[in-house]
Amino acid sequence: MVQVRDATVGPLFGTFDVSLLAALEGAISELLTPDIAAIGVAVPSRIDRVRGRAVSSTNVPLDHLDLRDVLARRFDRPVEIENDATAAAIGEWQLGAGRGLRNMVMLTLGTGVGGGLILDGRPYRGTSGAAGEIGHIVVDLDGPRCQGTCEGRGHLEGLASGTAADTAARELFGPAADAHTLVAAAQAGDAGASAALAKIGRYLGAGIASLVNLLEPELIVVGGGFAAAGGLLLDPARLVLARDGLTPGRDTVHIVLAELGPDAGLVGAALVGREALAAAAAAAAAI
Ligand SMILES: [Zn+2]
Repeated sequence: MVQVRDATVGPLFGTFDVSLLAALEGAISELLTPDIAAIGVAVPSRIDRVRGRAVSSTNVPLDHLDLRDVLARRFDRPVEIENDATAAAIGEWQLGAGRGLRNMVMLTLGTGVGGGLILDGRPYRGTSGAAGEIGHIVVDLDGPRCQGTCEGRGHLEGLASGTAADTAARELFGPAADAHTLVAAAQAGDAGASAALAKIGRYLGAGIASLVNLLEPELIVVGGGFAAAGGLLLDPARLVLARDGLTPGRDTVHIVLAELGPDAGLVGAALVGREALAAAAAAAAAI
């Protein structure tokens, strides 16, 4: 199981970066033992599940590469790839905070804002596999430009990601500050830091209210590194949900932190690998 972390954006941004593929193959090689039967890979990209490739990536250069087939040939095992937040949602749904539920939404707050949907008791991937891009829902129509390759404005990702928190931290505490600085300062009682996190949390709440109104999930799981801000983000988010969410969904939904923490995507990648193994076994039995 491998999760491609957000990578440094190189000159090949918008397509795939050979060095990133080499690093990914190197990471898999290090982990691979003879008893590993299949490989699951979570990438921060919109996925075409039919072709097994990343079709568009906001924060990493992995596009237009038949990643699944390249890795399957390279390692001679069944491989499946999945969007990292969908993988995190699968991890939390099967082995974390969402065990036994039928409708769950996962938000991962990191370099971007990832999203994963479990609807009617199964992962929801949309027509081609690209569904769940919660980070790119509009929460401020004429807001700031989104980040990475996204040209949109006022998207949740540009306003509620760890990157947005990095920016707020630098404005308050200077160029060396980042989201960790901001959270630590707020936890130590700094009013400016608390207000900055509350503002981010309110945007998060606007996104969550829209999700609740659209999908009426039982649970919203918030994970990713920036989720460490905890109640500093979620309490303001809950206030916006109370205002903008509709009954009964706003009253019945629970908003919790990921049980699997930053490993949710890795656990989900392993589960996706198991899917690949089951699919390969079914294909072999059908021959
Ligand atoms: Zn966007």
